[in-house]
Amino acid sequence: MTMSTCAYRRLGAEPVHGSVRVDHLTDREKEVFLLLGTGLGNRRLANELRISERTVKAHIARIIEKLGHQTRLQTAVLAVLVHDALCADADCTC
Ligand SMILES: [Zn+2]
Repeated sequence: MTMSTCAYRRLGAEPVHGSVRVDHLTDREKEVFLLLGTGLGNRRLANELRISERTVKAHIARIIEKLGHQTRLQTAVLAVLVHDALCADADCTC
């Protein structure tokens, strides 16, 4: 048996595996998901979304679950990768 030299494959932890199940997210969850890619903490996200930190945490937990991830960081990495597909700003060059 040969070990993959790619750490992602070895760990079975590719940030994007199979089809990304972003379609399962609600519009609000997509908004929170995108913001997660900024790396900001819950307090800043709560301010940005004009909701409580508690609600931010609830959204994030649901998003992580829907995407089949184990950690918030995995979800944040994925958010950056799919930013192009989700960003609604026509002038965005991110
Ligand atoms: Zn953008």
